[in-house]
Amino acid sequence: MDISNKLETLANSAKYDVACTSSGAQGNSNGSGIGNTTLGGVCHSFAADGRCITLLKVLMTNICINDCKYCVNRKSNMEIKREAFTPRELADLTIEFYRRNYIEGLFLSSGIIKSPDYTCELMLETISILRNEYDFYGYIHAKAIPGADNLLIEKIGRLADRISVNIEMPSQNSLSLLAPDKSKDLILKPMGYIKQAIEENAYLPAIRRSSSNIPTIIDSQIARLNKQKPFAPAGQSTQMIIGASPESDCHILKLTENLYQRYKLKRVFFSAYIPVSNDSNLPALDTKPPLLREHRLYQADWLMRFYRFKADEILDEKTPNFNPFIDPKCNWALNHKEFFPVEINKASYANLLRVPGIGVLSAQKIMKSRRFHSLDFYNLKKLGVVLKRAQYFILCNGKPAPNFQIKQDMILNDMMSKRELTIYKEAFTPKQIELFSHQELLAG
Ligand code: SF4
Repeated sequence: MDISNKLETLANSAKYDVACTSSGAQGNSNGSGIGNTTLGGVCHSFAADGRCITLLKVLMTNICINDCKYCVNRKSNMEIKREAFTPRELADLTIEFYRRNYIEGLFLSSGIIKSPDYTCELMLETISILRNEYDFYGYIHAKAIPGADNLLIEKIGRLADRISVNIEMPSQNSLSLLAPDKSKDLILKPMGYIKQAIEENAYLPAIRRSSSNIPTIIDSQIARLNKQKPFAPAGQSTQMIIGASPESDCHILKLTENLYQRYKLKRVFFSAYIPVSNDSNLPALDTKPPLLREHRLYQADWLMRFYRFKADEILDEKTPNFNPFIDPKCNWALNHKEFFPVEINKASYANLLRVPGIGVLSAQKIMKSRRFHSLDFYNLKKLGVVLKRAQYFILCNGKPAPNFQIKQDMILNDMMSKRELTIYKEAFTPKQIELFSHQELLAG
């Protein structure tokens, strides 16, 4: 089988996995030519230091023994072509792409061929060839297959930079309904193992430094630890499919918070469900992927990771879903008017972070600058504060922004796009009742 055909099929099958952030762009209309990345399944991910890394995103195989209803690779789907790379083919392809400067790393996932262990062995062999034979030290993100032996996950984790297990559905009920071969425990078990292995990384340098002073650690253990590479130094992540099952945004956000706390994940990725199956338990085939909902979840996730928000401050049982018209931080601010206005020259760092229009960087700059002089609105603009948003919620030395008067229409005008504002007004403007067309009124 021609490698480029395999690549086309297996990169196409991998496109539903969103644990990296974007797909390649079409270089020209017929999809050919130098530098075109569409057919090759190239995607981008971000390193811990913020660098954007180009990755070859591909499956080892799209053959699968499981039948997850939301997945294009499910065994009952007879409409797709099935392919499988050998470890040597995939390692060679990766290194060739790397040498031509197409990619900087590999994002490797797989359908389950024969068994989770067998699949992991194929993935392990691919990564081993890259690391040990080709001396490839570019970024590798590998998916751990739930149900595989811990020893295999351990070996993959020692070679890859990041490792992830997909949680797939937001609840056990949805898993039972849509992914009958999977269960919460099956997925959380490897996540727990990975978390523990990553935490042990922290002890390696300490043991290396002080090994001669620790008589309780026997020599062979020290030698083993000294030889070990850190386990998945870029951490672990997961992916959740949104919109294939009925859970609310609040449920999803609380689960996300829980995953961050219990498994110390670096990222939870949300994937808007793209209908691929005509199953009665799934949205109809012509349903649009819930992209706005996915976007709101990422915004809320950002608030939890960088802005010190808790999930239940963003959504609760009374308001279980995001406001489609306004981002979660502004929505929180509009619902917590008692918290505002915030005095810029006195507020704590945590309180500054709550102000719409003030980001992490601008909050840090405010904290530093105000040690030397008190800040006014002109200074804030210079520090990168988005005054268009922030002006409604702040005071500088007890004074609001010049010529400022709070009106709800004014705030909404500034915070929504024209299109959103039109839909919002249509939805919330009271309608005139046509008196003579209502039989009840006439009868009355
Ligand atoms: S195990 Fe993975 S590849 Fe296989 S059907 Fe389920 S989601 Fe798809």
